Amino acid sequence: MLDTKIRSVINKLKKEFLADTRPWVVTFSGGKDSTTVLQLVTEMLLELRTENKNLKKVYIVSSDTGVEMPVIEDYTGNKLIQIESYIKKEKLNMEVHLLKPKVTDSFWTLLLGKGYPSPNQNFRWCTDRMKIKPATNFLKSLTIKNESILMLLGVRSDESQARAQSIEKRDENHRGFSKHNDIPNAFVYSPIKNWTNADVWTYLSKYPAPWGKHNDMMVLYDKGSGEADCNIALNPEAASCGKTRFGCWVCTVVSKDKSMENMMRNKGDEWMEPLHHFRNKLDEYRYDHSKRQPRRRNGQKSVGPFLLSVRKDFLQELLEIEQSLIQQGKMGNKKLISDEEIIQIQKEWLHDGDFFESAIKMAHSVNRLINYESVKSFNGEDRKFIEAICDKNHIPVKLIEDLMQKEHSYRHQIKRTKIFTDMEKLVENFANGVVNEV
Ligand code: SF4
Repeated sequence: MLDTKIRSVINKLKKEFLADTRPWVVTFSGGKDSTTVLQLVTEMLLELRTENKNLKKVYIVSSDTGVEMPVIEDYTGNKLIQIESYIKKEKLNMEVHLLKPKVTDSFWTLLLGKGYPSPNQNFRWCTDRMKIKPATNFLKSLTIKNESILMLLGVRSDESQARAQSIEKRDENHRGFSKHNDIPNAFVYSPIKNWTNADVWTYLSKYPAPWGKHNDMMVLYDKGSGEADCNIALNPEAASCGKTRFGCWVCTVVSKDKSMENMMRNKGDEWMEPLHHFRNKLDEYRYDHSKRQPRRRNGQKSVGPFLLSVRKDFLQELLEIEQSLIQQGKMGNKKLISDEEIIQIQKEWLHDGDFFESAIKMAHSVNRLINYESVKSFNGEDRKFIEAICDKNHIPVKLIEDLMQKEHSYRHQIKRTKIFTDMEKLVENFANGVVNEV
């Protein structure tokens, strides 16, 4: 029965592949459904090659948000290496692309740099910036270059009721293709839309991929929970793409990160606990108004971004977790946050009055030797000068930093009378050993 389904999909793929010149794009998350589609497409290409048919280009597109679960990032990274080396060995006309958000759109730039509250159902700012936008830009450029493309997705009606309804609603042409909502001249096709979960698992267990076996994926699915893939080429209809094991480790759109909790129960995976704890803190602080500025960034009175002091604590903790995981040999060559993001965060903090370049200093404190100095903040000489004055007058530099930041926070306000009370409070708190939340 399954073999008939496989044959029928490969035959249909062959027919459509030869029917026009538009390149194909397979979106690949590393999950079981997109793996199945990629494997079927590759099998089809191999058959066409034995039939001496010319093969047009197939793009394999994957996404890296920069906050992928480390085990998943490892797995997907290794898979893409395997696939690429197979393509090279077999000289297939396929190309792998790993898409990343721009540094100004990254999770850490927005949360730590600009102070965006951790995403939730009502303010889910992450998926579009980190997954959809990079994919859409890439696909649009392909469409412009080639006039049209066909995207092959691993979505199935059997995934969920919502998925079944969205597939049902699609307006398909006589070839079974539907138009992509946001990309003109891009068409979408789901070759396994009628496959059941069992079909997918049986296929993957019975037939190893040409680039290697699926054992590593099976182990990952065994460890976690949840089923659906997060497809980067569609606005996911599900409440959160974090419900999948292929979501971000920082995801606070789901109330509980069950996938990580399940993984941590496995012997050898307990080391993820600090990440889980940090993710929970991001979630908790979002709803604590004392951790947020009393104004939005546009000056409107309302619960605003995370306070700069809170963001600084977050960054320090993140860097310390990273350092500890590196020392335990859990991170390989990877980082939890990139140098580019730390520099971007520093640029954002400068707008909030962080003239002493705390982000760079924090990075240096954990041996991340980032070479960056802004012309707009105090340079080394300036800082030494301020430190010397503070030293001479027995004033802690931290207090001066806090006072400058407070003054800076009033820059857009016409009425500044409250500034004196605020500054007095800072000095008072400092004298009483209370940490200032600026
Ligand atoms: S997994 Fe969660 S944090 Fe990541 S993009 Fe999706 S909703 Fe946002």
